[in-house]
Amino acid sequence: MLFEPSESQALVQETARSYAQRTLVKLATRLDREARFPAAQLKELADLGLMGVNVSEALGGAQAGAVAYALATMEIAQGCASTSVTMAVNNMVAETLVNFGTAAQAQKYVPEITSGRFEAASFGLSESHCGSDAAALRTVARRDGSGWVLNGSKQWITSGDHAGVIIVWARTETAGAAAKGISCFLVEAGAKGLGIGRHEDKMGLRASSTVSLSFEDLRLSEDAMLGAPGQGFAIAMAALDGGRIGIASQAVGIGSAALQAALRYARDRKAFGKPIGDFQALRFMLADVDTELAAARLLTLRAAALKEAGQPFTREGSMAKLFASEKANRACDVAVQVHGGYGYIDEFPVERHYRDARVTTVYEGTSEIQRVVIARDLLR
Ligand SMILES: Cc1cc2nc3c(=O)[nH]c(=O)nc-3n(C[C@H](O)[C@H](O)[C@H](O)COP(=O)(O)OP(=O)(O)OC[C@H]3O[C@@H](n4cnc5c(N)ncnc54)[C@H](O)[C@@H]3O)c2cc1C
Repeated sequence: MLFEPSESQALVQETARSYAQRTLVKLATRLDREARFPAAQLKELADLGLMGVNVSEALGGAQAGAVAYALATMEIAQGCASTSVTMAVNNMVAETLVNFGTAAQAQKYVPEITSGRFEAASFGLSESHCGSDAAALRTVARRDGSGWVLNGSKQWITSGDHAGVIIVWARTETAGAAAKGISCFLVEAGAKGLGIGRHEDKMGLRASSTVSLSFEDLRLSEDAMLGAPGQGFAIAMAALDGGRIGIASQAVGIGSAALQAALRYARDRKAFGKPIGDFQALRFMLADVDTELAAARLLTLRAAALKEAGQPFTREGSMAKLFASEKANRACDVAVQVHGGYGYIDEFPVERHYRDARVTTVYEGTSEIQRVVIARDLLR
């Protein structure tokens, strides 16, 4: 068993690392304070092949696999968590289009995402009354001649106001089992009847955009359906399996950035005549965080390796997301503690890491939902 990335994986990792350290680290605080969508940086990431890391070269991707994608996301998240979530959703949408779209759908949209001609792409599943219980969604697509008419709304949609294409889940049958009546549609930016709500004023990830969406008699042609009628819920679950590797990677990245900041501070700051890093109380906290992040990283790469090998990875993806997000939060908490009062003000980056990490235990399935998924698989 090898624990080192292959040459091509290491190349993608190094590309992401050097961009993150050279460009994103310097910008992240400003992007956060101004809540500014990192459009220019996303285009540069697309130029580096990072908007379709696990997508074929024929569709403009890097064709580097799921492990390379996880490694790249960890690096980008170390530089700027907001940029990394936008990148993660773009990659997830591109892969979903490749996996479930027709050749024509993939050709139409995926190169726009991988090239950065689309600033972003979105995943529209959650609604104001349901996130965890996604099968309870109420958005409806009604048959109209050969096409569909979409009505309803979505909540908390990452990049919804910047997306060239949005995958929207809607109920196409009201009778029968909740999950089986859901289908998936591709809605283009500027579609008549598409409404964009206000920017959510978030605790963290402030440079990523989160909006609500509404659909009022939005007409869709027959070929706007992604997958088969009634396949929508299965598509969502498959996409989220992969997406969770992205969020686990993001969490590892944020936690690692917090640990690095804490180590720097522990060497510099003095109390009682010596560096605070000499106090065993702090050394033990830092040792625990380093150990936990290393374990989170391995769990994440294991899930990515299974995905890349075409093996089942639902449980492993949930384990990675659960563990990495919880440990990233702990890493940020420790980093604030090590900084003392300076950890609570915006002079140092750890207060941003702390705010950014918080959502990783919530989106793409809360920690509780990850435990539900793991236990369901265990007890099957
Ligand atoms: C910044 C941000 C970006 C997001 N981006 C997107 C996006 O791009 N696309 C999208 O579709 N969604 C997005 N979401 C939505 C996100 O996925 C949901 O918020 C998340 O799934 C939780 O759903 P909820 O908020 O409805 O919470 P609820 O489902 O109402 O859960 C509330 C609490 O109840 C617990 N709970 C619920 N069910 C169970 C259960 N069965 N067992 C135990 N506990 C349970 C939860 O764990 C949680 O603690 C985003 C959210 C945020 C905050």
